[in-house]
Amino acid sequence: MEELKNALLEEKAELEKNLGKIAKPVDKEEGDYETSFEDIGTDKDDNATEVDQYTQNLGVESALEKNLQDVIDALEKMDKGTYGICENCQKEIPVERLKANPSAKTCIKC
Ligand SMILES: [Zn+2]
Repeated sequence: MEELKNALLEEKAELEKNLGKIAKPVDKEEGDYETSFEDIGTDKDDNATEVDQYTQNLGVESALEKNLQDVIDALEKMDKGTYGICENCQKEIPVERLKANPSAKTCIKC
C-alpha cells in the first residue's frame, strides 16, 4: 500500500510538472488547470502559431488533467480506505493491476 501511494505521489508530481509547462492552475481547486495562451507576437504568422500551439496544448492539457484527477481520486480513496475497490462491481481490484496502474478505478473484468 505504501509502495502504491508513493507511486501515485510520484505520478502526481510528474503530471503537475508537465501541466505547469502548458497550463496554469485554476483557482484553488486541486487538479484543475487551464491551458495557457502564449502571446508570441502580434503579426499574422505569430497569431497563427499561437493558435496552433494553443489548440495542440488543449488536447495534451485535457489528457494530463484527466490523469491527474484519477491520481487525486485514488489518493483520496486511500485516505478514506476505499482504495483498490472496483467502482463498478465493488470487488477488490487485484494488486497486480494496481501495481501496473495505481490509479485504476475498475477491475480487469469491468
Ligand atoms: Zn469490477
